[in-house]
Amino acid sequence: MSSLEPTAHAAANTARRLIIAIDGPSGAGKSTIGRLLARRMGLLYLDTGAMYRAAALRVIESNASLQDETCVAEICHAAHIELEGDPEALQVKLDGRDVTREIRTEQVGHAASVISTNSQVRRDMVARQRELARSGGVVLDGRDIGTVVFPDADAKFFLTATPEQRAERRFEQDTHRGANTNFEDVLRDINMRDERDANRDDSPLRIADDAVVLDSTEATIDEVLDKMIAVMHERQSENSI
Ligand code: C5P
Repeated sequence: MSSLEPTAHAAANTARRLIIAIDGPSGAGKSTIGRLLARRMGLLYLDTGAMYRAAALRVIESNASLQDETCVAEICHAAHIELEGDPEALQVKLDGRDVTREIRTEQVGHAASVISTNSQVRRDMVARQRELARSGGVVLDGRDIGTVVFPDADAKFFLTATPEQRAERRFEQDTHRGANTNFEDVLRDINMRDERDANRDDSPLRIADDAVVLDSTEATIDEVLDKMIAVMHERQSENSI
């Protein structure tokens, strides 16, 4: 079970029922930019990675082996995951408990990356994501949104950056949070996650044919956001969305 609680502000602005997909590898800035885009356009924001992370936390707490596919799928299926609040202050709840911070650790990130290769878990999460976003008016970020979850999304963006740049940003965030880490470990982790995302059998990370690819290696958040808004305006003026 999952739920997504809209704020009054976002709910009032979902008239166009847009679905915007932002996919890309770890650390490309999808969630930061997704939140800002949702805010600017008065849409809800759905961080699908947070759902995999919350499910992974439940698996860790159950002391199950990440490799035990059937057991992992059952645990994830039973997890009640809620995403609440404004895009910038999204609160993630697992079985009623606030896990917003807890799911951001390296341990949970690693477990999320592993369990997301499990086809049963993916099917479960994809069904929840479709249900949560069924009324539209949502920006979703993930790995498979434009290819699997919403192949008919109104707009698809694929946000990328070099592994070194993504590792640099992640390292800065971790240091800011007080985590004890070093750049080489972060880069190794980013490369491992890329490898798992790109090579899993089920829904590997790939660029949808109709996605707009944006490389944030040399661009600021505002520059990327402006490009996305420009694409949305262009499509709106062409009446294609
Ligand atoms: O985006 P984030 O790093 O928080 O996602 C955690 C993990 O969940 C990723 O490493 C990725 O493998 C997986 N994921 C996925 N499909 C999504 C979102 C996340 O496989 N739609």
